[in-house]
Amino acid sequence: MRTSSPASTVVSDPALVLPAADADAPRILIVRLSALGDIVFASSMLDALRRRWPRAHIAWLAQGGFAGILDGDPRVDELIRAPAEVLQSPAALWRLRRELRARRFDWTFEVQGLFKSRLVAWLAGGTRVGFRSKEPGAFLMRHLLDKGGDIADIASEYRYFAARVSGLRAGPPHLVVGDARRAAVAARRAELGIADGFVALCPFTTRPQKHWIEDHWPQLVQRLHDAGVGPCVLFGGPGDAEAAARIAAATPVPLIDLTGQTRFAELPAWLAQARLVIGVDTGLTHIGIAVRTPTIALFGSTCPYTKGAESPLLVMYDALPCAPCRRRPTCEGRYDCMRGLTPQRVATAARQLLGVAPPAAP
Ligand code: SF4
Repeated sequence: MRTSSPASTVVSDPALVLPAADADAPRILIVRLSALGDIVFASSMLDALRRRWPRAHIAWLAQGGFAGILDGDPRVDELIRAPAEVLQSPAALWRLRRELRARRFDWTFEVQGLFKSRLVAWLAGGTRVGFRSKEPGAFLMRHLLDKGGDIADIASEYRYFAARVSGLRAGPPHLVVGDARRAAVAARRAELGIADGFVALCPFTTRPQKHWIEDHWPQLVQRLHDAGVGPCVLFGGPGDAEAAARIAAATPVPLIDLTGQTRFAELPAWLAQARLVIGVDTGLTHIGIAVRTPTIALFGSTCPYTKGAESPLLVMYDALPCAPCRRRPTCEGRYDCMRGLTPQRVATAARQLLGVAPPAAP
């Protein structure tokens, strides 16, 4: 199917595989500007692209701190950080265009599907392949690909995209932790007295219906403590500090609160050193999966991934009749889907995942 626009011709080609013949060492730009969890999931493209074109120059463009998540990843030749305000200033956009065009990319893979990411991909030039979406700016792309794949598969849309363009199967998301980061986090842990075997808790996300019930977290920490699992460490961004302080204050056993104290670039190393990650449907939980740490993901209002991970992953999701409601909860703030995942159930799941015996009866 072809649709015409005044600016270009957009080709929808579900069987698109970019030819190797004219691109032994292609220069590839991946545009995924923001959203931590999605950048983590989009990392599932890298192995397939690298296997298909071992001599490629692969660059990744992301906004500000988000780029840090891929810092030191040997599969990425170049990390391009776009200032957060780049899209608000014509002069900054023009500067970015000049910088990107100078790199002479052959292919630009736009895996966000927003107008802003399409605009940036267009500025970069090259053959532009992007996600089909309802957002404006489709005319800025050369090829549009459906968000395909099996929705139950983790990171399905990115794996599907990578398979379409490379012709190779793309594996689950994977973040590489460099030695320097690993050592820096180990040193910081020593400073803070955080022992081996710590459990990373990731309670924070954007939409209220994706949160686990706040009172559940202190009870979970208590149960893990009683089972000899821990210490527990809270992770989150600076905006989560207030909620983290409430959780810490309500927790009757030791809980270390690192909310707002870790940079994006350090997070993979932190979660790679954890014994277990427990979190909601949020970027940090996805990082836990991508660094292959055993992970429990608590889902309620969003569609869970149930397969495709290669590391120990337990997705807890009760599939209530109203779920997944995504952005339109109908439960008037009760969030039964998350309330039903009780601390007892999650603690039992944690013990089972780690092979820890239940605590002795008092
Ligand atoms: S409507 Fe159902 S799925 Fe959505 S938040 Fe409420 S209980 Fe959860």
